[in-house]
Amino acid sequence: MILDSHCHIQFKGFDEERAKVLKLCKKKNIFLHAIGTQKDTSKKAVELAESHDNVFASIGIHPIHLFPTHVDEEESSFVSREENFDEEYFAELAKSNRVIAVGECGMDLFHIPKDRAVEEILSKQKKVFLAQYNFAQKYNLPLVIHVRNAHKELIEVLETLSKPIRGVVHCFSGDWSSASKYLEFGLNLGFTGIITFPIKKTEPKIQEDLWEVVSKVPLDRFLVETDAPYLAPQKYRGKRCEPWMVEEVIDKIANIKKISITETQKLAWGNSLRLFDKIKVK
Ligand SMILES: [Zn+2]
Repeated sequence: MILDSHCHIQFKGFDEERAKVLKLCKKKNIFLHAIGTQKDTSKKAVELAESHDNVFASIGIHPIHLFPTHVDEEESSFVSREENFDEEYFAELAKSNRVIAVGECGMDLFHIPKDRAVEEILSKQKKVFLAQYNFAQKYNLPLVIHVRNAHKELIEVLETLSKPIRGVVHCFSGDWSSASKYLEFGLNLGFTGIITFPIKKTEPKIQEDLWEVVSKVPLDRFLVETDAPYLAPQKYRGKRCEPWMVEEVIDKIANIKKISITETQKLAWGNSLRLFDKIKVK
């Protein structure tokens, strides 16, 4: 069994083919963790989890939704909506026993609105991250953390926390110095299809650093994910990413860590159940 520990199967882009994708995942024994990014995508994740026994949900606000920001990526182009962490709204969603985590929340200095000062953005991201951290503590749930171009800033915030933090730094990309910090805080690292990409000739160090992290991460501290519909693994590059493609991530980890695919799959599954301890699988 495999948990795609981070995907957005509830997003509109899957409306036409969601049933087909879910069926294929079921056939392959793949469970899905549908991650909310704002109010409506969190609610949709919960609804989907309540109607499918191989889907679980996370609820929260992604840092790019704190300000209206133009997001233009290979897979999508949109202007994010401005939202705040509405505790009452999320408390209602958290009543569902299919909610296994809070997030994705975190810090992002990649997608930033041009008309705001960096200090203002950082201070709001920090405030909303802490609100979700407190919420997660209250409901005894782990956090799904997003960080892009902001390792230093996030680590500074983590250092101020009074209680231990439980969670995963999803779609980890970075070098061993930031990875080892997160591991010291007790966090897990989630790997996506990015680890299957080839080395970029212009910036070879980025991928070499990431592979070093994969090779060094302890066997009990990694998770696998797709971040679908984004980041299709190398074999499917150019196509929309789907949760079953998480198998490619497992193959790559097995290859880097020089352990078998079966063993890697077992480890990832065990790590997922330990972190997301509300998961009940019959
Ligand atoms: Zn995501």
